[in-house]
Amino acid sequence: MPSSEELHKRRTAAVARGVSSVVPSYVESAGGGTLRDVDGREWIDFASGIAVTNVGNSAPRVVEAVREQAGRFTHTCFMVAPYESYVAVCEQLIALTPGEFEKRAALFNSGAEAVENAVKIARHATGRPAVVVFDHAYHGRTNLTMALTAKVMPYKHRFGPFAPEVYRVPMSYPLRDGGLSGPDAAMRAIDVIEKQVGGANVAAVLIEPIQGEGGFVVPAPGFLPAIAAWARGAGAVFVADEIQTGFCRTGAWFASEHEGVEPDLVTTAKGMGGGLPIAGVVGRAELMDAVHAGGLGGTYGGNPLACAAALAAIETMRELDLAAAARRIEARILPALERLAAADAGIGEARGRGAMLAIELVKPGGIEPDAARTTAVVRACHDAGLLVLTCGTYGNVLRFLPPLVIGEREVDRGLEILEAALR
Ligand SMILES: *Cc1c(COP(=O)(O)O)cnc(C)c1O
Repeated sequence: MPSSEELHKRRTAAVARGVSSVVPSYVESAGGGTLRDVDGREWIDFASGIAVTNVGNSAPRVVEAVREQAGRFTHTCFMVAPYESYVAVCEQLIALTPGEFEKRAALFNSGAEAVENAVKIARHATGRPAVVVFDHAYHGRTNLTMALTAKVMPYKHRFGPFAPEVYRVPMSYPLRDGGLSGPDAAMRAIDVIEKQVGGANVAAVLIEPIQGEGGFVVPAPGFLPAIAAWARGAGAVFVADEIQTGFCRTGAWFASEHEGVEPDLVTTAKGMGGGLPIAGVVGRAELMDAVHAGGLGGTYGGNPLACAAALAAIETMRELDLAAAARRIEARILPALERLAAADAGIGEARGRGAMLAIELVKPGGIEPDAARTTAVVRACHDAGLLVLTCGTYGNVLRFLPPLVIGEREVDRGLEILEAALR
């Protein structure tokens, strides 16, 4: 097998520079909470391919389901000749998302595509143009979702012009908004919506219940319910982007549950497919069914292999109770992060829920972001064999997203490496 160094040379000559990688090591195999590279090094996986392999890599049920499906048929296009597994995935989305009301679902290939379709559905159903999004939001890299995403570098720089009728309002960010309460932060956002957009023009309010790329920002309690209540009153569709938070990641099937919020629409992807590309929009039947026949779809949306994988992944989450596993990961990692934060004036905060945890690095004595130290710590982690990612508008957040099936030994080893890297 070629070495990572050899592969990197080939890559530089063949793969566009715009597609970059976090580590220079090429993967040979992966499973549970570790990856092995082609040079024979083992990595502890605190990334899960960005919150995708919640059930672990090559989870046995997923492998078996994909193998079986590949032997029967690989593609017919659901819009041409339908098949049961697509229907079954929609039934699961309906059963697992919060809200007892009548729902419908539709399947797509990527998170960005799900978000685009949620906006299409909300605009069609309401007949209104405006979409409200939040500071630090991340919703994807297609043209509409770039407009919905907050951060210019690297996501939007020189890629405009962007889609119109997107309005950004302040987020609840307890470390950086002077500790505004959830309801007060919601009032601040609602005031901007009412004064600058007008409730009657809003098709959708789109929000990540816990922000992902934007910095693992957990809004203050009461923020999400207040925003959802305002949307209901204004006749706007409340859309929860649960692409990163969904499928047991935060210790519940969906993060909206922690605040008792029942979104009108939910977008899902990432952890849903056990590693295969699949995404969904699920929500109120009267919104979903407002769109005319043929108005939604795509060649590959809900591909049979991806549906088989999603059903197997969901079964695995149920069988192993991976929501409880995420809560156990939180109980093991978060207190350790809090201890590190208490002893290190450069850690502004340890935060997160379930297996979606982070520390935000700051200059001692205040909250000025320390991106340089963040980069250095991440590099030291990589050198020691711990795969971690950064995030945040200021590039100063270290995020921890282990597969939910990771062992305690790997978690503890990962924390040891992190502690040494911080030192
Ligand atoms: C990753 C992500 C997306 C985009 O998903 P892709 O599959 O990369 O298109 C959208 N929203 C959130 C919250 C995400 O984390």
